[in-house]
Amino acid sequence: IPVPNLISFAEALEVGYSKYKNPYHNLIHAADVTQTVHYIMIHTGIMHWLTELEILAMIFAAAVHDYEHTGTTNNFHIQTRSDVAILYNDRSVLENHHVSAAYRLMQEEEMNILANLTKDDWRELRSLVIEMVLSTDMSGHFQQIKTMRHTLQQTEGVDKAKAMSLILHAADISHPAKSWELHYRWTMALMEEFFRQGDKEAALGLQFSPLCDRKSTLVAQSQIGFIDFIVEPTFSLLTDSMEKIVMPLIEEASKSESPAFGTHSQNSLGAVSNPEAQRRPTFKSTSDGGTHTENSLATVDLTSFKDNLMKIIQANKERWKELAVEEELVKNVGEQEKDQSRNSTDAQLQEETTRIQNESSQGSDGTTCPPRSIVLQVVSFDTSLSDESNSEKCTNSDPNQKDLTDAQQETQNTDPLNGEPKHCKKTEDLVKATEQKEALIQN
Ligand code: AMP
Ligand code: ZN
Repeated sequence: IPVPNLISFAEALEVGYSKYKNPYHNLIHAADVTQTVHYIMIHTGIMHWLTELEILAMIFAAAVHDYEHTGTTNNFHIQTRSDVAILYNDRSVLENHHVSAAYRLMQEEEMNILANLTKDDWRELRSLVIEMVLSTDMSGHFQQIKTMRHTLQQTEGVDKAKAMSLILHAADISHPAKSWELHYRWTMALMEEFFRQGDKEAALGLQFSPLCDRKSTLVAQSQIGFIDFIVEPTFSLLTDSMEKIVMPLIEEASKSESPAFGTHSQNSLGAVSNPEAQRRPTFKSTSDGGTHTENSLATVDLTSFKDNLMKIIQANKERWKELAVEEELVKNVGEQEKDQSRNSTDAQLQEETTRIQNESSQGSDGTTCPPRSIVLQVVSFDTSLSDESNSEKCTNSDPNQKDLTDAQQETQNTDPLNGEPKHCKKTEDLVKATEQKEALIQN
């Protein structure tokens, strides 16, 4: 890749990712997903199964996968009959645009980072990139999981493009598998993006899309649903797939005591037919003759990789559960206040808010809870119930306010709570779970 071309292309990508000033789908998300794909390739050992060209395709697809994202969902494009929805016939509207627009950039000679590929390599890379980016459309999620699960039960090798698509899809929704601080911030950024879409929908007289009504969305509860229905199954499938592909490579390499043990690995499932695999650059950074290279197959520990991921996902879910209790409480308080003919005093409401904050200032593990702002996000008073000073007191009392972006603070200050009180918990939970599942698929 000619370096000047790479620089021009990367700069143009950054401009495109910044076009709509999205809180979530911006250049940092692109960098985050690209880095995560890189991490997965190294730590699962899957890079030893992939050719040089396929590794390039993975990194490239991750980098462009949300290029020029509008900050609105496919469904919004379809409902508003936007130009891209018309152009792509309502099918994976955004994802089609991301790949197409990124390739259009490379039509300019100075941005053509693929100029030195042979015709065949260029075609192969393009085909992989298109398949991977289109697979980030959440509407294909359940089918993708089902197909891959089925593949794992067969004796044949795993399809390369399918495995690569799963890696990109997993990286794309990987923030719940990262530290709470990161996961929390990404979630709030996404919620703000959804809420901005909700604001647009309200202005256009459209119905709110799921999770887009800033007045009634229960963030913590939606996250539990997202983790249960989407994230856990995806990462469980990812690690199972990596195991099926990589374990035979490790066995083979250790048996033959391949000097490279990671530099000349070849797929025993027979999936690597391309001689390119042999001339793939290893990711080794140091070499002592090949017996112990930094990212060799010998250093791959899939069990730790899996355990670590699952532990983090579980821990994050627990944090959301704690916050969901508060969210529920706050919601009910808001409702009760409303029911009392809206004659409750500010002091009462403030007292309840303070109580909730005090009660929840300690996490179950004894550590201080991370930003309480998620509670405040929903506790922020209904404008009909509160005056300015009240909501100000509320937001200012958040000790973690500094953790929020301006956009998120804006949400806090304007985000009233509005929802139905809970009567039958069990049925409600079931209904909610189904609704969440539908909401997540739709978005
Ligand atoms: P992408 O738009 O390519 O980033 O695809 C990932 C999609 O997953 C996002 O657009 C969201 O719809 C969804 N998603 C990611 N993280 C979350 C989350 N924490 N809660 C709900 N949906 C999420
Ligand atoms: Zn994405």
